[in-house]
Amino acid sequence: MMRIHADRTVCVGSGMCALTAPEVFDQDESEGRVVVIDPNPAGEADRQAVNDAVDLCPAGALSIV
Ligand code: SF4
Repeated sequence: MMRIHADRTVCVGSGMCALTAPEVFDQDESEGRVVVIDPNPAGEADRQAVNDAVDLCPAGALSIV
């Protein structure tokens, strides 16, 4: 089972995660920081997209725990 952790204190609001895995990540309206919509995605495509988003995040804010 996948569980996603997003550290909003280091997120810089680049939006790469929401672009890469839009079913899982969004950004808040005020600061653009990451919001996890689905912390445990079941679909294989979403899980792969999450792995890509973790790699692409420029702030290192995302991890799988
Ligand atoms: S990719 Fe990283 S820095 Fe950019 S919005 Fe997502 S969590 Fe924040």
